[in-house]
Amino acid sequence: PHAINRIAAGEVVERPASAVKELLENALDAGATRIDVAIREGGRALIRVEDDGCGIRAGELPLALARHATSKTDGADLLDIRSFGFRGEALASLAAVARLSLASRVAGEEAAVIAAEGGRVAPVRPAALSRGTVVEIRDLFFATPARLKFLRGERAEAQAIADTLRRLAMAEPFVAFTLRDLTDGERLVIRLDAESPDLGDPREPLRRRLRAVLGRAFSDGALPLEAERDGHLLTGWAGLPTEARGAATAQHVYVNGRPVRDRLLLGALRAGYMDVLASGRHPMAALFLDCDPQRVDVNVHPAKAEVRFRDSDCVRGLVVGTLRRALAPLRP
Ligand code: ADP
Ligand code: MG
Repeated sequence: PHAINRIAAGEVVERPASAVKELLENALDAGATRIDVAIREGGRALIRVEDDGCGIRAGELPLALARHATSKTDGADLLDIRSFGFRGEALASLAAVARLSLASRVAGEEAAVIAAEGGRVAPVRPAALSRGTVVEIRDLFFATPARLKFLRGERAEAQAIADTLRRLAMAEPFVAFTLRDLTDGERLVIRLDAESPDLGDPREPLRRRLRAVLGRAFSDGALPLEAERDGHLLTGWAGLPTEARGAATAQHVYVNGRPVRDRLLLGALRAGYMDVLASGRHPMAALFLDCDPQRVDVNVHPAKAEVRFRDSDCVRGLVVGTLRRALAPLRP
């Protein structure tokens, strides 16, 4: 059974950044308002994610590590999913390929911790923790040496982790995030304070968070987006075309709060910018598309960020049209 878990684990956890993505999503699903991440050696030696979310009861810790155990859906309708998680695979996968410890505390109860190593799970023990959940992943892929060979260098993996955190943080302005690299002493890589709500302009916290992540180049002159078509709501900000960045760091698309790298949406984004791009410049934008979960299938692949829309023509038209209108002042 351990071997099967290890094979399946590669599907969800391909590299340290995908482990970080899963752990961050769990923390967000738990309603965390602050999330602190620490890594060592590009995440291979250590990934620690600490949150102040709702926690897991001591008696439910073994279940959290069990394959296909999730508290987020009853399995009746996989299309109707609003939280990030629903497969109940991430923690089981990590427990299969690494040394994992999961400590948690539900308000008003005692804290407890469970540990696993290469798929073997130890009994629950009492722990000292004031609130929330701390997950530690050590020696990722020690149990699957073949997987280790595919990892890039430490710097590249650390960079991928930082990108993953930024991508999720861009959609969560009210959550505070930090990323620390403990490889050589302690280095604070990312610090994003929680934005406070703005009663005057509800778009302001998001703009401030985007500025904090993408920098001034984004927010100077960024144009707000807001449009609706057939139950699809598009919001976000279109920045001025930029020289500095490529698609991976300048074009961000979210579907129901979930970062995606979807070909249809990224293609529509570029099409919306088409006639305002001087040569050598790229679009810089963060688009948030929200719709009834019934209209979009996010189950295409557990780790890849692809989606399938019921009405893709409508979505494409909405994105291209909204961007073209917003960017009209820039047209020569
Ligand atoms: P999924 O997120 O798909 O449900 P996971 O394997 O990622 O599957 O997590 C299993 C379960 O463990 C979750 O359904 C949730 O109940 C619990 N859990 C995991 N991480 C956290 C966390 N940070 N805070 C609270 N509960 C958590
Ligand atoms: Mg999860």
